[in-house]
Amino acid sequence: MGFNIGPVRLTELYRKKYDAFTENLGLAIAEGKKITFADNDITNLLKLQHERIMDKGLSIDYEVTDKEEADELDLGPMVLSDWKDAHYQNYVCLEEYDVKRTVKQDGKKQYSDRRHNTLHTVITDVTSGIRADLEPCTCPNCGAVSTISRLVDGCPYCKTMYKMDDLFPRITRYYFTEDAAPKEREDTRLRGKVLLGGLILGFIIGAILNLYSMNVYDDEYNLFEHFVVTIFGMLITYSAFCVLDVLNLIRRGIVNNAGKWGTAGTHGKFEHMMKAYSPEFSFDYFSGKALSLIKTAVYSKDEQDLLFYKGPALDKRFKDIIDMNYGNAMKLISFTENNGSVTVAMDVFFDTLYAFDNKIKYKHEKYRAVFRRRVDIPLNLQFSMTRISCPKCSGSFNAVLNKNCPFCGTEYDIESQDWVLLELSQYN
Ligand SMILES: [Zn+2]
Ligand SMILES: [Zn+2]
Repeated sequence: MGFNIGPVRLTELYRKKYDAFTENLGLAIAEGKKITFADNDITNLLKLQHERIMDKGLSIDYEVTDKEEADELDLGPMVLSDWKDAHYQNYVCLEEYDVKRTVKQDGKKQYSDRRHNTLHTVITDVTSGIRADLEPCTCPNCGAVSTISRLVDGCPYCKTMYKMDDLFPRITRYYFTEDAAPKEREDTRLRGKVLLGGLILGFIIGAILNLYSMNVYDDEYNLFEHFVVTIFGMLITYSAFCVLDVLNLIRRGIVNNAGKWGTAGTHGKFEHMMKAYSPEFSFDYFSGKALSLIKTAVYSKDEQDLLFYKGPALDKRFKDIIDMNYGNAMKLISFTENNGSVTVAMDVFFDTLYAFDNKIKYKHEKYRAVFRRRVDIPLNLQFSMTRISCPKCSGSFNAVLNKNCPFCGTEYDIESQDWVLLELSQYN
């Protein structure tokens, strides 16, 4: 895994897919539009979220606008790091967006907000120079498990034919984090208004002082004094605004980050502990996986249908959530190893949108999530529940939809391959 210092940008083919992904993200949530080069985990998650909004009898406008697009120079996302295994190359990308959400019921606006978000994505490509033909790959159209070479010849199930460029690179992870700071452009406009307001205030006070001394002391009208008072009025008003603004930022930071203190050490600590069992482990890999499992469980109609969920029934309120963004903080609560399995409890922060009692509520929340996985089996960074092969008959299938192998009926043991979610609760 390499970290890139300084700006690294995506090449043209990657940029085209990345841009198409961000352009269609809002439509996927709002209208259920399919993004063919998003991997099945993302497709499944977007579909569940869209269905949740529909089931609540709501509609949503979800506008994702590139902040750079308005400028001349749109450089695209920053490539933060990349990592590679024998078959795949992954690029971690970051870019800032304005996200505008409008929730409606029967055409009537119920909620609207506009936030400055950071979009986190991972783009995955087959490593150049290797023969990827036999790599398992899910059909973007019907979701059946196949191989790359078979999909290029036409999916055996739905007959859709693909070019290699359709299949790879693909987006294998995405989530938003919300930024606490106010938007720059609005901020500049507000500062302009404050300066103008201060100027007018200073001018009026200058005029009153002048009139006062003309009336009371029979002085001449003093232009210089009027000018000085006007400028002073402007400066004092602006200074007062700046002090209040900083205080407000601190207050907002405290409100938004309540409880997040102490999460910064989790990254290194957890990675260090896991590397003792799996040298290829990275926190980045884990956090993407963990967010995907939590969101899938929250958006699912019945979590007991999910192969990776092995806990009690979820809090009913989770089924009111229509959008959730990662709060950009996880805190390791406990770590235990027992009989070749590692159990990890994490506090995970989210910014969520709830729909209940004909109301939409925005909340900052903390979740407790408990994950478990086997550590006596080597980690496969590309493992996906959407394309697994049966250990008994080696048939390939999508385990999100089937708990048992559709060919021989063997129950699939997901825990030997991936993290399972044992508990998910919300508190505070
Ligand atoms: Zn197909
Ligand atoms: Zn089987």
